[in-house]
Amino acid sequence: MLGESTKAWGFALARLAMLLVGGLLLGLFIDHVVAGLLLVLGLALSWQLFNLFRLDHWLRARSRRDPPDVGGVWGDVVTQVVRLHRRKRYHKQRLLDVFRELRHSTAAMPDGVVVLNSQSEITWFNRTAGRLLGLRRRADIGIRISNLIRDPEFGRYLQRAEHGDVLQLPGLQPGKDLMLSFQLVPYGSGQRLMLVRDVTRQVRLESMRKDFVANASHELRSPLTVITGYLETLEQDQDIDPLLQGPLSEMRRQSERMNAILRDLLELSKLDASTDEAESEPVDVPGLASLLCKDVRARAARPTIELQLESAARLLGNEGELHSAFSNLIDNAVKYTPPEGRIVVRWATNAEGEALFSVSDSGIGIPAEHLPRLTERFYRVDPGRSRATGGSGLGLSIVKHALEHHGARLGIESQEGEGSVFTCHFPSERVLPPRAQS
Ligand code: ADP
Repeated sequence: MLGESTKAWGFALARLAMLLVGGLLLGLFIDHVVAGLLLVLGLALSWQLFNLFRLDHWLRARSRRDPPDVGGVWGDVVTQVVRLHRRKRYHKQRLLDVFRELRHSTAAMPDGVVVLNSQSEITWFNRTAGRLLGLRRRADIGIRISNLIRDPEFGRYLQRAEHGDVLQLPGLQPGKDLMLSFQLVPYGSGQRLMLVRDVTRQVRLESMRKDFVANASHELRSPLTVITGYLETLEQDQDIDPLLQGPLSEMRRQSERMNAILRDLLELSKLDASTDEAESEPVDVPGLASLLCKDVRARAARPTIELQLESAARLLGNEGELHSAFSNLIDNAVKYTPPEGRIVVRWATNAEGEALFSVSDSGIGIPAEHLPRLTERFYRVDPGRSRATGGSGLGLSIVKHALEHHGARLGIESQEGEGSVFTCHFPSERVLPPRAQS
């Protein structure tokens, strides 16, 4: 190829040299060398300009016209342009094919996909998204998504959503009882992919499960109260056969355990039912903590308990839920610490303005591999031991749920055989100054 082009250039130069010689001879013949040379060079330049004109003309309409039939260097240039053009067309076609395939596969996806530009305007959506959100192909392209989904919660989500955040909202279309989940995935320069899923069935099943647990626990309570009552009366009866005393007290102990489990299940159902943030009022945490420590001190055979109030701050929260969370943590510390051990209940604020309620104990501790699963329902490190201490395995689930309602999180540190520290981290927005003394 390079050889061919060198040949063409060599030929062009030879032709130029021949023309110059011709021009020189003509000049000598007419006795005016300069005029002879100028004439020949002028003709050569006109020829080149003519070829350039043909090339330009063809380039402007190359999709419709055949390339000009020129030889030499111009012919080479035309061949190069034709080759480049063909290559470009091939790549363009390939890209179009890939793009089309991609569109077809996303269009057929069971999940809805909406492409949003940096202004959150719809640039494309697939069939499922159109069906779930009631979008119309022509009318809704270019419209801001917040103008179509007007729920204020969605507006906040659109502005603040972080990677992986999911929002659930009832569907928009009248007459269709849908529950939709939204997830935003950032990509490209400021663009976002919004995934929309129909979660109506899952939400319905979840709510049925919650209702079932709440109803079953509620229904079981009354018969169990009767059984526990009779067992207590029988146990206190002096005339009862001494051989039955042992089984009777075991039966009463077990019925109390069942009562504790039902109580915790109902508590969890209550927390489950109120999925929104807890109804809030200023809660005097130092007062609540003192009360809980006083309750523990009233118990027999218990570890030493110390209260460290490093802050007098109050907390914006739900007193009932906070009482339940804190008392579960303190009860656990008492259950899993021997009487000669020590428990410290602490209320403080940190440099970030968070409020911390922590319960540390010098008890049996928890092996590291169990820590990630502790807040699961009915999860116990040592089921035998937990049952023996009257544990339902639901205490830490209750703590987790109650804290979630307060935008708080639970931190657990523990060393087997050394003790544990459970810390509730409350966000600074919920921390209130102490009540002014009158
Ligand atoms: P339980 O009613 O069995 O105590 P929880 O949900 O309150 O259930 O706790 C789950 C498990 O975590 C317990 O079974 C126990 O093994 C472990 N655990 C909780 N608190 C402590 C603690 N302070 N020290 C040691 N182990 C603990």
